Amino acid sequence: MPDRKEHLKKGIIFGGPIILLLMFFSRNPAMIFLTVSIGIGLLVLGSILPDLIEPATGPFHRSTFHSLLVLFILSAVGIISIFAVFSFGANIITVGLCAICIGYLIHLILDSRTKMGLPDT
Ligand SMILES: [Zn+2]
Repeated sequence: MPDRKEHLKKGIIFGGPIILLLMFFSRNPAMIFLTVSIGIGLLVLGSILPDLIEPATGPFHRSTFHSLLVLFILSAVGIISIFAVFSFGANIITVGLCAICIGYLIHLILDSRTKMGLPDT
């Protein structure tokens, strides 16, 4: 079972390049550093958020917030937020939303690859 360090490491390795690529859609070069910083921060938060909500030591670990339903919903929100980056440019809101969704999705994908898997609902 991946621990917090593993989730953080994989979140940055797989999500970091996506956040950096989104910066090509920035319309305000002066805000790029701040946007990347907030994006990486929210990516890190998203990559550990499911286990903060449902700790591995708690009785409700891997229930609602680790479910395939949440995976599906966050995938939809992530896709919409990527289209928002294309439409409105890379700003703190669009990149932040993408980053937290990507981090959360990476967490759920890592958890889904374990023997315990993810619950349906
Ligand atoms: Zn988890």
